[in-house]
Amino acid sequence: MIEDRLICTKYADLHLHTDFSDGTFSPERVVIEANRLGFAAIAITDHDILDGIEPALSAGNQYGVEVVPGVELSAESDGEEIHILGFYMDWRDRQFQQKLQEFRESRRIRAMRIVDKLNQLGIDIEYDDVLKRADSISIGRPHVATALVEKGHVATASEAFYRFLGDSGPAYVAKQKLTPTEAIMMILDVGGIPVLAHPGMLQQNIVPELASSGLMGLEAFHPYHTIELSDYYCDLAEQYNLLVTGGSDCHGLAKGKMVMGSVRLPYEHVDAMKKARKAILRREREIGSTTNYTSCHELN
Ligand code: AMP
Ligand code: FE
Ligand code: FE
Ligand code: ZN
Repeated sequence: MIEDRLICTKYADLHLHTDFSDGTFSPERVVIEANRLGFAAIAITDHDILDGIEPALSAGNQYGVEVVPGVELSAESDGEEIHILGFYMDWRDRQFQQKLQEFRESRRIRAMRIVDKLNQLGIDIEYDDVLKRADSISIGRPHVATALVEKGHVATASEAFYRFLGDSGPAYVAKQKLTPTEAIMMILDVGGIPVLAHPGMLQQNIVPELASSGLMGLEAFHPYHTIELSDYYCDLAEQYNLLVTGGSDCHGLAKGKMVMGSVRLPYEHVDAMKKARKAILRREREIGSTTNYTSCHELN
């Protein structure tokens, strides 16, 4: 019996982007690659868009891969960008969809401002080069980077970020961001599980503060994290009674090579999330629509 518990045969990747945001794979291709790599479960976590979920779910049915609905929201604290992942939220909720639509509209306007800045720097690039599919996707700096590569202004997307688009680059334009607490509340309000993405990328230790604002999990496993850092975040999660998640943050081939497969999260963490989700639903039923989600993480 003990041996059964020690040998993990099922793995998940809970951080994946599709071409509905800044990934290069369609949702179906993401599922196919995950299946090829032997993943039992994946989460689709596009930036500010949910349209990849439905096609991934049907591809998941076809290929026998469990698909967890997810999203990645951008927040800011002390001038630092903080990403909050949401899992198992009611992604069909109209108000939630509407809010994300507003974020995407502001991303589109921001992309135009980036193009203006590039033009002022003497770079020959037009809105249409960047905004081709902007109506149906969540546009971000990687799309501008791709256009710069296609037009021959830079050799790689990394060079585009390094020379122009990075946070201190000459064509940088900030995007509309929530506070981390607002992002957490947005996810909780639609019955989802808010998780701090790639905490190892942050300068500040914001975990204690966010744990008391309703955060329910930490992305302990991420390609950016060393083994030591992952261990540290697993311990921190235990300390604050938070769930542990992990994923490759794969953007298809957008960053040169495919990183899916580089992080394998034992499936027991997916089970733990599902248990937490059930507790939320139970609590919702018990106390009706006036749920105070801020204390939901205590239910883990
Ligand atoms: P945005 O949400 O438009 O600000 O774009 C941020 C996205 O750009 C991140 O989610 C990454 O996918 C990507 N990104 C950030 N830095 C780099 C970089 N140095 N090279 C390539 N892609 C990057
Ligand atoms: Fe991204
Ligand atoms: Fe992120
Ligand atoms: Zn991501």
